[in-house]
Amino acid sequence: MRKLQPGKLVLASHNKGKLREFAGLLAPHGMELISAGEFGLPEPEETGDTFLANATLKAMAAARATGLPALADDSGLEVAALGGQPGVRTADWAMRPDGTRDYPAAMARIASLDGSADRRCAFVAVLVLAWPDRHTESFEGRVEGRWVAPPRGQSGFGYDPIFVPDGESATFGEMTAEQKARHSHRARAFAALAAASLG
Ligand code: IMP
Repeated sequence: MRKLQPGKLVLASHNKGKLREFAGLLAPHGMELISAGEFGLPEPEETGDTFLANATLKAMAAARATGLPALADDSGLEVAALGGQPGVRTADWAMRPDGTRDYPAAMARIASLDGSADRRCAFVAVLVLAWPDRHTESFEGRVEGRWVAPPRGQSGFGYDPIFVPDGESATFGEMTAEQKARHSHRARAFAALAAASLG
């Protein structure tokens, strides 16, 4: 396992919600997080069939372009009644023809499932650290829960307003960042990364 040395780390994402969450998680570890957007890096096409493949291609592209270690996250929602969809296509489900995202419409697609449908679902995140010499390390986090309709709460991002983690009654959209981090797939994957690669 290769350790991350304190210093600059590129976040291979243009997603402001993810940037905010990772900045909070990394702050205590002496890492300066710089987003791919600040380097003017393009967003690579996510051509992989798995979270791991997509996170690896994003992290590798950012590390090669900047000469710095890079962190990428590929994540999504697996809905039991949809056989695990949208999964790696979670972001695509929200895509408008003009490239912007419409999350209310994407959440409505899930809410349009039969009222008696199995409500179980899980958020999954795979984190990949990549170095400019192509070395990579990967970490997975998962949180089981159920989806609710209509959406509730304005915090967080993406599909947060329909996801209730097991053991809670509030959606991620109704939680503070600290409350969400107690459960979230990203925080769990990050805990595995911190144990193996930081400090
Ligand atoms: P990615 O950027 O390709 O990894 O796409 C992830 C998709 O899953 C995006 O549509 C996100 O909004 C959604 N997603 C991932 N993590 C979360 C989360 O913590 N809350 C809500 N939506 C999420």
